[in-house]
Amino acid sequence: MRKKIVILGSTGSIGQQTLEVIRKYLNEFEVIGLSGWENTTLLKEQIIFFKPKIAVVKDEYVARNLKKNLNKQNNIKILWGTNGLINISTLKEADIIVVAITGIASLIPTYEAVKKGKNVALASKEAMVVAGELLVKEAKLKNSKILPIDSEHSAILQCLKNEQKDCVEKIILTASGGALYDLTETALKNVTVEDALNHPTWKMGKKVTIDSATLMNKGLEVIEAKWFFNIPADKIEIVIHPQSYIHSMVQFIDGTIMAQISEHDMRIPIQYALFYPNRIINNFSRLDLNKIGQLTFRKPNFNKFPCIKLAYQALERGGTMPAVLNGANEIAVNAFLNCKIRISEIPVIIQNTMKEHKLKYSPNISDILDADYWARERALNFCTNKK
Ligand code: MN
Repeated sequence: MRKKIVILGSTGSIGQQTLEVIRKYLNEFEVIGLSGWENTTLLKEQIIFFKPKIAVVKDEYVARNLKKNLNKQNNIKILWGTNGLINISTLKEADIIVVAITGIASLIPTYEAVKKGKNVALASKEAMVVAGELLVKEAKLKNSKILPIDSEHSAILQCLKNEQKDCVEKIILTASGGALYDLTETALKNVTVEDALNHPTWKMGKKVTIDSATLMNKGLEVIEAKWFFNIPADKIEIVIHPQSYIHSMVQFIDGTIMAQISEHDMRIPIQYALFYPNRIINNFSRLDLNKIGQLTFRKPNFNKFPCIKLAYQALERGGTMPAVLNGANEIAVNAFLNCKIRISEIPVIIQNTMKEHKLKYSPNISDILDADYWARERALNFCTNKK
């Protein structure tokens, strides 16, 4: 019996790489659902090759357009919007839901999948950041597994395999430092969008590349790590590792540090999540240690990159605060990408938004969505009403 798999965000970078992995194991997986929002050209190709029963796009207009483009014999069902995403992420026969859609849009389908007891391979960090407490609680209740695709968390999962939880002393998340790490504080103020998008090691979407430059990406990953591995924030450390070959580490109570080291290739963590707990052969290119020569480490400068501090603060406050951090960050990053604010104003806007938030503890899903909405409105206001 092949495992039945659904991919949300199949036309994005992680979605495409997930299908690349699946293409090599077609006798292990059957793709039953795909969502591809607006890129109907690529989605059409994917539909023709993988033959899912259902596809989901942005709206009715795009749905009609896709239908028109497909051969009449193709009797695929095409749905749209959030309801469409909920529909395919809760399909009765689905075994694994890969969630690789950007932003807060990942939250509802992830939550609904977990509520139905589905196993989720999670690439979208927002869902875990804003609703980690809720998702973990629900997953435990419904006996569903949430596995990380984010490379750092995949590394930690691998380091923790066959280890006892109470033997963990701390988690060490590695950070490349992003495009701007070596700039002085003055130079940081004058960074252009092009400078910030010029990431040294990973090719990724714009949002996450800016998050890497401000180190907010690592801040969000600290929050993710807390929920994935049930580890308190004070046991999660960040180290700058510019080569990014060590994807993260775990330090144990006997002083041993385990590290997961591999190429910059997201197909490795994707494959690990899809086959977990098994390790499967592949022919992806291997890391040549002789060529790399050295791996270096530095202590992160929290004063130069205050976004990390804000993320730890949000985690410490708990409740709806991580949702506020995430929502305000998304708005501020967008404003920077549209040249409305400087990069150094991103943490200021987030901090101001967090300061005004009326925190709610143990939030349910609608509390989280409300906090997210409130934070975006507030942050947008800060972006437009600055002198
Ligand atoms: Mn990552």
